[in-house]
Amino acid sequence: MNDTPIHELMACPKCDALHRARHLAPQERATCARCGALLIAPRVRSFLHVVALSFTAMILMVGAVFFPFLKISTQGMSHASSVFEVAMAFSEGWLAPLSFAVMALIVGLPVLRFSALIYTLWPLANGRPAWPHARRIFRLADQLEPWSMAEIFVIGTGVALVKLAGLATVSLGPAFWAFGALIIVTALKNAFLSQWTIWDAIGQS
Ligand SMILES: [Zn+2]
Repeated sequence: MNDTPIHELMACPKCDALHRARHLAPQERATCARCGALLIAPRVRSFLHVVALSFTAMILMVGAVFFPFLKISTQGMSHASSVFEVAMAFSEGWLAPLSFAVMALIVGLPVLRFSALIYTLWPLANGRPAWPHARRIFRLADQLEPWSMAEIFVIGTGVALVKLAGLATVSLGPAFWAFGALIIVTALKNAFLSQWTIWDAIGQS
C-alpha cells in the first residue's frame, strides 16, 4: 500500500484501517477487511434507502413531538404531556433559552440533518446530477451528526421514569414509542450510508 497515491486511500469510519478505494459496479459493496463496517455502498439502492428512511424519520419526529409522551397519575389526578407542550411550558421568562435549546437539539437539528440528506441524495438516487450546493449541504449533514440528541433524550427520560415510578403511576404515550422507532430508523439509515460513496457520486455529477 506504500506506493498508493493518497487520494486513493480510504480509512474505515469505525476502526481507521486503511484500504485502497476503487470504483465498483453499481450493485457491488465493499466492507472493512478488519471490522466489517460498510465502506462503499451499492450506489442507487443505498441512496434510495437513505432517502426513504430519512422521510420515515421526519414523519416519526412529528408524532414524537406532538403526541402525548408521558401520562402521570397520582391520587386520582392524571396529566398527559407531549414534548412540545413541555418545551413550551418554559417558553416565557428566564427559562426561555432552555426551552429553545431543548427544541433545537431534540427536533431542529435532526430535521435539518434529514432534510440535508434528502436534498443531497434525492437527485443522485434518480440518476440525475446533484442539486446546487450539494457539497456544502452534505458536509453540514455530516457535521450535525454528533449533535442529534434524540437517543440521549430517550435514555434521560428512562432514568427519570425510574425515579418517578415510586411517586406516581407513569405510563408511556405513543410519542415514546415514536422516539424508539426513530432511533431504530436512524441506526438503519446510518448502516446504509457510506460517506465515500456519496462524496464520490457528488464529485462525478
Ligand atoms: Zn474497520
